[in-house]
Amino acid sequence: MSMHPKGQIRKQKQQVQVDLKQADTIKCSDCGNYLFITSFILKKLSALVSPNGQEALIPVQVYSCGNCGKVADGMLEGSGVEEESSFPRLDI
Ligand SMILES: [Zn+2]
Repeated sequence: MSMHPKGQIRKQKQQVQVDLKQADTIKCSDCGNYLFITSFILKKLSALVSPNGQEALIPVQVYSCGNCGKVADGMLEGSGVEEESSFPRLDI
Protein backbone atom coordinates (compact mmCIF):
# COMPACT_ATOMS: atom_id res chain seq x y z
CA MET A 1 0.00 0.00 0.00
CA SER A 2 1.39 3.26 -1.04
CA MET A 3 -0.19 6.48 -0.01
CA HIS A 4 -0.09 9.47 -2.17
CA PRO A 5 1.29 12.41 -0.26
CA LYS A 6 -1.55 14.80 -0.81
CA GLY A 7 -1.30 14.47 -4.55
CA GLN A 8 0.77 16.89 -6.43
CA ILE A 9 1.30 20.31 -5.11
CA ARG A 10 0.23 22.60 -7.82
CA LYS A 11 2.16 25.70 -8.33
CA GLN A 12 -0.38 28.42 -8.35
CA LYS A 13 1.93 31.26 -8.83
CA GLN A 14 0.13 33.89 -10.73
CA GLN A 15 3.17 35.66 -11.83
CA VAL A 16 2.51 38.31 -14.33
CA GLN A 17 5.47 39.15 -16.40
CA VAL A 18 5.84 42.86 -16.34
CA ASP A 19 8.69 44.71 -17.89
CA LEU A 20 9.22 47.58 -15.54
CA LYS A 21 11.34 49.29 -18.11
CA GLN A 22 8.17 49.95 -20.02
CA ALA A 23 6.33 51.31 -17.02
CA ASP A 24 6.42 54.96 -16.27
CA THR A 25 8.10 56.07 -13.10
CA ILE A 26 5.94 58.52 -11.25
CA LYS A 27 7.87 61.52 -10.14
CA CYS A 28 6.93 64.31 -7.84
CA SER A 29 5.51 67.12 -9.91
CA ASP A 30 7.06 69.64 -7.57
CA CYS A 31 10.63 68.49 -7.07
CA GLY A 32 11.07 65.55 -9.45
CA ASN A 33 11.85 63.07 -6.71
CA TYR A 34 10.74 59.52 -7.50
CA LEU A 35 10.73 58.02 -4.02
CA PHE A 36 7.41 58.09 -2.26
CA ILE A 37 6.39 57.18 1.24
CA THR A 38 3.02 55.99 2.39
CA SER A 39 1.01 58.50 4.29
CA PHE A 40 -2.47 58.54 5.64
CA ILE A 41 -5.10 61.19 5.46
CA LEU A 42 -7.34 60.82 8.44
CA LYS A 43 -10.98 61.60 7.92
CA LYS A 44 -13.24 61.90 10.87
CA LEU A 45 -16.76 60.86 10.15
CA SER A 46 -19.28 62.44 12.45
CA ALA A 47 -21.82 60.27 14.15
CA LEU A 48 -24.60 62.02 12.27
CA VAL A 49 -23.55 60.64 8.91
CA SER A 50 -21.83 57.47 10.02
CA PRO A 51 -23.57 54.26 8.91
CA ASN A 52 -23.45 52.78 12.40
CA GLY A 53 -24.23 56.01 14.20
CA GLN A 54 -20.83 56.22 15.81
CA GLU A 55 -18.03 58.59 15.17
CA ALA A 56 -15.49 56.94 12.95
CA LEU A 57 -11.94 57.60 11.92
CA ILE A 58 -11.26 56.69 8.35
CA PRO A 59 -7.65 56.45 7.18
CA VAL A 60 -7.11 57.12 3.51
CA GLN A 61 -3.75 55.88 2.32
CA VAL A 62 -1.89 58.08 -0.08
CA TYR A 63 1.66 58.35 -1.32
CA SER A 64 3.57 61.46 -0.60
CA CYS A 65 6.90 62.62 -1.92
CA GLY A 66 9.72 61.52 0.34
CA ASN A 67 11.51 64.74 -0.35
CA CYS A 68 9.01 67.57 -0.20
CA GLY A 69 5.96 65.75 1.10
CA LYS A 70 3.69 66.59 -1.81
CA VAL A 71 1.01 63.98 -2.30
CA ALA A 72 1.23 62.32 -5.69
CA ASP A 73 -1.10 63.62 -8.34
CA GLY A 74 -4.49 62.01 -8.33
CA MET A 75 -4.12 60.50 -4.88
CA LEU A 76 -6.27 63.11 -3.27
CA GLU A 77 -9.23 62.50 -5.52
CA GLY A 78 -12.22 61.53 -3.49
CA SER A 79 -10.50 62.16 -0.20
CA GLY A 80 -12.25 65.45 0.26
CA VAL A 81 -9.02 67.27 1.00
CA GLU A 82 -9.04 69.34 -2.14
CA GLU A 83 -12.57 70.45 -2.52
CA GLU A 84 -12.17 73.84 -4.04
CA SER A 85 -14.81 73.73 -6.71
CA SER A 86 -16.67 70.53 -6.01
CA PHE A 87 -19.35 70.17 -3.44
CA PRO A 88 -18.22 67.93 -0.60
CA ARG A 89 -19.80 64.53 -0.90
CA LEU A 90 -20.01 61.65 1.49
CA ASP A 91 -20.68 58.53 -0.50
CA ILE A 92 -20.31 55.58 1.79
ZN1 LIG B 1 8.57 66.37 -4.07
